[in-house]
Amino acid sequence: MTETIDAPAAVKPINHWIAGSRYAGQSGRTSPVYNPAAGVQTGAVDLASVEEVDRAVQSAKAAFPAWRSLSLGRRAELFFAIRELFHARREELAHHLTAEHGKVFSDAVGEVTRGLEVIEFCCGLPHLLKGDMTEQASTDLDVYSIRQPLGVVAGITPFNFPAMVPMWMWAPAIACGNTFVLKPSEKDPSASYLTAELLKEAGLPDGVFNVVHGDKVAVDAILEHPDIAAVSFVGSTPIAKYVYETATRHGKRCQALGGAKNHMIVLPDADIDMAADAAVSAAYGSAGERCMAVSLLVAVGDSAEPLIDAIKQRIPNVKVGDGMDAASEMGPLITREHRDKVASYIDTGRDEGAEIVVDGRDSCPADGFFLGATLMDNVTPGMKTYEDEIFGPVLGVTRVGTYEEAVKLVNDNPYGNGTAIFTRDGGAARRFQFEVEAGMVGINVPVPVPVAYYSFGGWNNSLFGDRHIYGPEGIDFFTRSKVVTARWPDPATSSIDLGFPQTR
Ligand code: NAD
Repeated sequence: MTETIDAPAAVKPINHWIAGSRYAGQSGRTSPVYNPAAGVQTGAVDLASVEEVDRAVQSAKAAFPAWRSLSLGRRAELFFAIRELFHARREELAHHLTAEHGKVFSDAVGEVTRGLEVIEFCCGLPHLLKGDMTEQASTDLDVYSIRQPLGVVAGITPFNFPAMVPMWMWAPAIACGNTFVLKPSEKDPSASYLTAELLKEAGLPDGVFNVVHGDKVAVDAILEHPDIAAVSFVGSTPIAKYVYETATRHGKRCQALGGAKNHMIVLPDADIDMAADAAVSAAYGSAGERCMAVSLLVAVGDSAEPLIDAIKQRIPNVKVGDGMDAASEMGPLITREHRDKVASYIDTGRDEGAEIVVDGRDSCPADGFFLGATLMDNVTPGMKTYEDEIFGPVLGVTRVGTYEEAVKLVNDNPYGNGTAIFTRDGGAARRFQFEVEAGMVGINVPVPVPVAYYSFGGWNNSLFGDRHIYGPEGIDFFTRSKVVTARWPDPATSSIDLGFPQTR
């Protein structure tokens, strides 16, 4: 009998992108990249040194004067070309997402499509960058404001949306005339490399967009770099707080979006089947690895029993498997370590007094980093399963008696990213939108991610900084205003006046 040994899968090197070309890291440090559906290493991504971050910043700095001087018409034309190319190659991008993040391919295409909407918004950049003008503010005196780019700006992104979240940053940043350094998640970096190649192919000048892969060394180098004017960050709350504090201490503008614990409230008058469909979709889509995932279901009054029954019936039908299999609806988690941490919350929940209605460990593929959909009842404030952002396919149900108790739960929570209410009562929904304390609110919509011409952002510990991301606030974040006061007087009328200038 011949023994066969599987050859080890090829491990692909994933390099930086600096000044319009591939740049193989010289730091001697790399980090493994996995195919989470198979549980095998497929890549080794370079981890940048401080010097390599500086190289990328210098490339962006050198590209800035020409880029900011390019006419808005030409810049917009380039954005249309970028949009066309990313649209044409969206499946290739999505393929990287499924291969390294694990989300199912249809969801990966959806991620790219939502990111493309931000690029489409940026195609209107000449309009977005218009200033204001006041004629005759004083006699023969005009005042006008202009929006100008900041210079070199940076983006630091999380693993869960490896294409879309970078698009939230680089598209408005470069549309506004800045040059950009991206530090993507080291867990699924290939989409950023393809992004760089596509931008070059679309005609973006070298140095306008750079990618440095890395860990805390690269992040700290960005936060402390004197030539970086602003940092946009998306990730977990502790790191968002650290990034915001460090960047602002170094004189930078910063927006740092953090984690979440999103409550979906179901009132007794809601359509229970519709609410159950929404809860299953929003809790288990992308294996719960979305900052807008529903992780707590707040069942008001007698909605709890029928709702739990309806969700319990639906869970066995959620097909868990490799994201490249068209039949799969839910893929694996990002790493073995994260999968085990998420799974450990099932025992924690039981120990804390929650009831495990469906245990996702019972029904998931053995290879890879899979965990099945999990449902817990009687999850209450104070429990770790209530307080922590679990970031996996674990849905907790909290039972309350009244609408007021439900809203208080949301408003007492330290996060404030997204929340939703399911009801047929327009008055209750109107009251909810008025009094709930969260940045993004859904009414019979479980994942209320704003369309590209509004801005995305949470409140409280879900956002450090003043400006939400993309949309009009994204344009504000990546520009600064200058106000010009101008007069073209006849020199014959000139005289000295030491008084403070008046407008009347
Ligand atoms: P993370 O905070 O671990 O990592 C985010 C980025 O920070 C990565 O680029 C990572 O390399 C870097 N980083 C990690 N540890 C660091 C450290 N000690 N010092 C400096 N930099 C560090 O987040 P993640 O696990 O990649 O992503 C999941 C988190 O992101 C969840 O908390 C999720 O809610 C959040 N998220 C929020 C939003 C939002 O819009 N609010 C969107 C997507 C994801």
